[in-house]
Amino acid sequence: MDKAGWSKTLQFRMTLAMTLSGLVPIFGCHIIMFGASHDIIPTFMSLLPWYLPLAALLIAVNWFLAKLILKPINRLIQSATQLASMDIRTRLETDADESTETLELRKSFNKLLNRLEESLNSQCQFVADASHELRTPLTSIQGYTKLLMRRGDNIDASLLSEALQTVTDESGRLIRLVSDLLQLARADAGQSIIAQKEIIDLRDVVRSVEDTVTMVAPEQVEVQFIIPKSPVWIDADMDKLKQVFLNLSNNAVKATQAGGKVTVTLRASNETAIIRVIDTGIGIAPADQQRIFDRFYRVERSRTRSKLYGGGTGLGLAIALTIIKAHGGSIELESELNKGSTFTVKLPMAKVETDDDDKDAMPFSEAEDEARIAE
Ligand code: ADP
Repeated sequence: MDKAGWSKTLQFRMTLAMTLSGLVPIFGCHIIMFGASHDIIPTFMSLLPWYLPLAALLIAVNWFLAKLILKPINRLIQSATQLASMDIRTRLETDADESTETLELRKSFNKLLNRLEESLNSQCQFVADASHELRTPLTSIQGYTKLLMRRGDNIDASLLSEALQTVTDESGRLIRLVSDLLQLARADAGQSIIAQKEIIDLRDVVRSVEDTVTMVAPEQVEVQFIIPKSPVWIDADMDKLKQVFLNLSNNAVKATQAGGKVTVTLRASNETAIIRVIDTGIGIAPADQQRIFDRFYRVERSRTRSKLYGGGTGLGLAIALTIIKAHGGSIELESELNKGSTFTVKLPMAKVETDDDDKDAMPFSEAEDEARIAE
């Protein structure tokens, strides 16, 4: 500690306060006793040889007492300072005999360390998963390019075409993966994942998703979109919402075997836009349902590659949830193994003046919705 530093210590300040609180009553008594006789100063001077040692004694005793009181805090400072150079898994010792305040402080420190360790672990896991995901397509690209180089001029047309197709697919996968990672990194850094919000009719988003999904879904899977007649206004980033519903619909199509059905419904209820993506596919086990929105989490059985985007990155639902939350909405999942899944997205509706035609054609009620799905 530097020379000026000691005067800023808690021990010095406590000593000063305790000594002053001892001296003030003494001087108060002096004034009361000698104030009336107008000889406060001479009597004070004559008693000074008593007062001075008394003040010195008070300072010494209070310095010692302050040190005693602050001992647990000093011990805490020492342990916390040691922590800085120790493993993140180390925790402060908690001794039940310690004073309540410092014990609570130690516990709070440990809670903070738990959270830090958790976030560090998830960051490490994220880096490991991301590296693994990046490595797979890169290995494939490298394998094919090496093969082409080895064959030189002796390469037949079908192998060349297969190699080029793989390189194109895998590089596309890499681009998607990197752009997904970028979106999540921006969201983690506190930047908004949505670019620009504007008042849009959610039916336009759903219709554009319908155009893509019906084009790429296998013929054996029935795809049905139920869209209301009246607009469903929301304040949103259209492209991002399209990304969410494409992801949900794409997953539903991937999970549905031949003869199954994927239904997407849109309706409005109590100022909330409700979009449901329902499939009669393989379903998701309860244990997987809890982790489905985690980054890179994939349920092994449905690891098939889709025609819609090529192989998934395992980040689709994590990004979807981030986008929907950024719009003030929520995503719920209901699923039963071998029966199918329903993802329900709820978004707050924007307050827009509607004309009379729109009022006549209110969006479907839940009952009407169910009737249409059952058809
Ligand atoms: P991906 O981009 O790989 O599709 P997602 O985050 O979108 O990743 O989905 C994560 C995993 O959740 C998928 O790999 C799949 O196993 C599972 N999943 C998502 N939707 C469904 C669904 N409708 N039915 C069954 N499994 C699903």
